[in-house]
Amino acid sequence: MDGRTFRQAMGKFATGITVLTTEMAGEIHGMTANAFMSVSLDPKLILISIDKKANMLSKIRASNMFAVNVLAEEQQQYSMIFAGQLKEHEKVSFARLNGLPVLQDALLTLACQVYAEYEAGDHILFVGKVDELQMREGDPLLFYCGKYRSIKDWEEQLLV
Ligand code: FAD
Repeated sequence: MDGRTFRQAMGKFATGITVLTTEMAGEIHGMTANAFMSVSLDPKLILISIDKKANMLSKIRASNMFAVNVLAEEQQQYSMIFAGQLKEHEKVSFARLNGLPVLQDALLTLACQVYAEYEAGDHILFVGKVDELQMREGDPLLFYCGKYRSIKDWEEQLLV
């Protein structure tokens, strides 16, 4: 199969969307990512996957820390900003969790230290040890077949 078919096939797996954030030399950097999973309860570990070409890679390697911000359905704009899909936008302001910069009002925020790093093809997998978390009530922003979705979309379709 070609790369386009593989990418299209992987889009059949519905996910949430996160924005990864870190800070190096006082500069905050964010990147949209849906390659995120929970890995272990003891110790508490999660996994993210970063393209070797992404600027985020060197920043996480340098800081050895990152936060995972799971977006709520009303936060699509954050996903677009941190994927470079929206150039004109208001300045993003950040809060702090365990000293790390995090998005305000994310559904879930995890403050992580890099626990392990693995090379996997054209991506680097980081396992993060979760030191702190913050969560709130709300519905998630979803991503399916290359499009942003919400739980309400499905509820409306089921009612038709
Ligand atoms: P840049 O391209 O340098 O930054 C990304 C954007 O964020 C830029 O527009 C930049 O201006 C903005 N930005 C960064 N920091 C700030 C700040 N402090 N304030 C305001 N704006 C800021 N790629 C992966 O590697 N892994 C994934 O799992 C993944 N999942 C994705 C899921 C979705 C739904 C989408 C849309 C994209 C995904 N990508 C993923 C692609 C990735 O988000 C983009 O390729 C991204 O542009 C690469 O980030 P970068 O670190 O190179 O940063």
